[in-house]
Amino acid sequence: MADCLFCKIIAGEIPSAKVYEDELCYAFNDIAPQAPTHFLVIPKAHIPSVAGIDGSNSAVVAHIFEVIAKLTKEQGIASYRVVSNIGEQAGQSVPHLHFHVLAGRDMTWPPG
Ligand code: AMP
Repeated sequence: MADCLFCKIIAGEIPSAKVYEDELCYAFNDIAPQAPTHFLVIPKAHIPSVAGIDGSNSAVVAHIFEVIAKLTKEQGIASYRVVSNIGEQAGQSVPHLHFHVLAGRDMTWPPG
């Protein structure tokens, strides 16, 4: 999608610290990390948020969770949090589906 920040990152038009890439998804370090480990995993296809997932595109979500399990195992991370914000009130600032992976510090519940 032409005007999407994360589509531009996938296309290499905006630089990013790549963690992983395959044909379906891209993972990169968050520019404003909220934990010692904080990376984002995004589908290469533009989906605005979890609210845009349906039967036509949901397979990529299972794939992304497989990738998250693989990357965290490879990095020796046993405990972590996966977050996806949907909409403005929940704190979504980039309208391209993304899963935050946070680790490396104690976390509280409920989140703020
Ligand atoms: P959210 O606020 O849940 O939509 O998450 C968007 C995330 O994207 C935030 O944690 C930002 O710090 C991160 N972000 C924004 N721009 C960039 C960028 N150019 N490279 C890496 N992460 C970014």
